[in-house]
Amino acid sequence: MASMNRRRFVGTSAAALGVAGLRLPVWAQIANGGTSAAFPTLLGVDYYPDQTPESLWEEDARRISESGLTNVRIAEFAWALMEPAQGKFDFAWLQRSVDILHRNNIGVILGTPSAAPPPWLSAKYPEILEVNEKGEKLHPGGRRFTCPTNATYRRLSLIIATEMAKMFAAHPGVIGWQIDNEFTLGSSGRCYCDYCRAGFQNWLRTKYRSLDLVNQTWGTNFWSQHYSDWAQIPVPLPSGGDPNPGLALDYDRYQSYANASFLEEQLAMLRKLCPKHFVTTNNIGIPYDVIDMRELYAKVDFVAFDNYPGFFEMLLREQGQSGSQLSQAVSGMTAMQHDFGRSILRKPFLIMEEQSGKAGQRTFSPQPAKGQVRLWSYQAIAHGAMGINYFRWDTATSGAEEYWHGMLNHDRSKSPAFDEILQTVNELKALGPEFLNSQYQADVALYFDYDCSWAVKIQPGHYKLSYADQVTAWYGAASPSHTGIDLIGPGSDLSLYRIVFAPVVYVLSEAQAEKIRQYVRAGGIFVTNFRLGVKTESSQIIKRPLPGYLADVMGVTVEDYVPIYADNPHLKFGSMLGSADLECGIWTDILKPSTAEVLANYSSGQHSGKAAITANTFGKGKAVYIGADLRPPDLSRVLGTFTASVGVKPPFEVPLGVELTMRRSGNKRWICLLNHTGGAQTINLPGTFKDAVSGESHSGATELPGYGVMVLTT
Ligand SMILES: [Zn+2]
Repeated sequence: MASMNRRRFVGTSAAALGVAGLRLPVWAQIANGGTSAAFPTLLGVDYYPDQTPESLWEEDARRISESGLTNVRIAEFAWALMEPAQGKFDFAWLQRSVDILHRNNIGVILGTPSAAPPPWLSAKYPEILEVNEKGEKLHPGGRRFTCPTNATYRRLSLIIATEMAKMFAAHPGVIGWQIDNEFTLGSSGRCYCDYCRAGFQNWLRTKYRSLDLVNQTWGTNFWSQHYSDWAQIPVPLPSGGDPNPGLALDYDRYQSYANASFLEEQLAMLRKLCPKHFVTTNNIGIPYDVIDMRELYAKVDFVAFDNYPGFFEMLLREQGQSGSQLSQAVSGMTAMQHDFGRSILRKPFLIMEEQSGKAGQRTFSPQPAKGQVRLWSYQAIAHGAMGINYFRWDTATSGAEEYWHGMLNHDRSKSPAFDEILQTVNELKALGPEFLNSQYQADVALYFDYDCSWAVKIQPGHYKLSYADQVTAWYGAASPSHTGIDLIGPGSDLSLYRIVFAPVVYVLSEAQAEKIRQYVRAGGIFVTNFRLGVKTESSQIIKRPLPGYLADVMGVTVEDYVPIYADNPHLKFGSMLGSADLECGIWTDILKPSTAEVLANYSSGQHSGKAAITANTFGKGKAVYIGADLRPPDLSRVLGTFTASVGVKPPFEVPLGVELTMRRSGNKRWICLLNHTGGAQTINLPGTFKDAVSGESHSGATELPGYGVMVLTT
């Protein structure tokens, strides 16, 4: 990192301290009128001095610095070295490492080590071990095998983090903190132990205050589940039948709270002891949904996400995808992660781990093609990232992650992507902090509600129905419009968007329904589909005709809801949607319009002739109900029709396989073009643009090489 940048950053942070030592988060200060350029450029690498012989530390620091990298993240799994026995701390080695990195002008992000406790700890306190959803206690030896509720584990985690903070609060080489590592990203994710049961009971006391209300809300008279004491309330472990759905949804919420509050203990300590440092944590976004990432990141300075497109490729290959369809799905899922990361706090985010080679443990992802690591880096930036840390510097020659390939090979020679990463880092530095910290404007919002995701998992209604899959499919159907998509949730300000897409809003509170009503009344376009408003936020079935609270806004009632297993019915689009006949997927809601216009009818099966898709004019806006599960191209046509109807469009069209995004700062705008295909693509530019990466000017038919990028300015 450039030392001037760090001084400016520290100055800004210190000013934010204000009176009485209370520190506002750095980004709150920036939002309150500071300049975003005051934040240091973070184009770094994840580094493991704990895994590297000390004789190589100087050489590593010199090479990292000479590479143009600004910072490292270290120590997030080094608990056993920092506290070799309980209460005996040894930070001398870490101090030497940070000193060397600092001397080489490399900023240090320190990771607190609670994702991987040392063997002495789990041996002495076996009660800290996680119990999985089958009731099996996890064993030490891996990572993420601990309970988020257990007070002993939380206390010991806070102690090691506090000792680290005391040791490094004043070290000029340290710039920030990562709390823990990838909360819940383990083999099971949620814990079901006795401590979590007690924690759940306490959480329920705070939420409901009355046991009668718990019994009423969950409907515990059925299956003789009436609770007469808080201590009787179980957690949803195997019990000979499905758990009470109200209890199960509350338990998902509790586990999210337990992890977020675990983070907040360390966050509060770091705010107090390290007021000059930024604090974040790293995780991944949807479709992963074990905890509510909005809750986890609510109080940190910025979102940091880990990005491994190769994992999406492996996942999709396992599902049988290949060819251009696979490539588009991978780039789409990666783009959705970035859009989600940016949307959580509505500000630029950091990639804390960026795939830089083959990644994995027992098996690993394909080798990134030449140009792909650079492309992935630009894709993150194009979607609103402010910086990137590549995972990792050297590739370990022992340990569980010895096949997680970094910038150096096992023999410490340069990896295939080494020079490409250096090129990218130098290009991004040249593009400058104003670009890296610029805003991303989206006209379209896609609604993702963890309650819906969890409640649909508890009762999918159809074995193939997945909320996360539906949201992913809608993202894939909406993204070809290149209009910018924010991933929003309950409580988000809908008025920022011209159009809101919201699939499978299975859980809908009266308050959120009112927000949607006001949005449409004021002129917004709300597009939703089947299973709308079935449950209240208490997980009770709504006691009025579906779609419940939104029946007036949608202008329909649902005559019946029908899971489809065989003989998939067909539907016929009306003229507005292109008059096509097509087959429905796994679900049909049979719609009965009151005030809505019918845009498609079922054309076969017992509900032939009845409404399948409707649009209702409500106030100044429109509410669209897609009753049938549509195949991706058909869904794309419907969503595209409504996006186009409100005049939302990109600055120019690009060919399939090329992505276009836009970032802005004041009157400046940068149009990012990303070619996710291996072959050259021709873009027809409507005017003359300058590519801020190459410095060249382009107009008219312009060739974008395979895996190539351009950042166009006018
Ligand atoms: Zn537990």
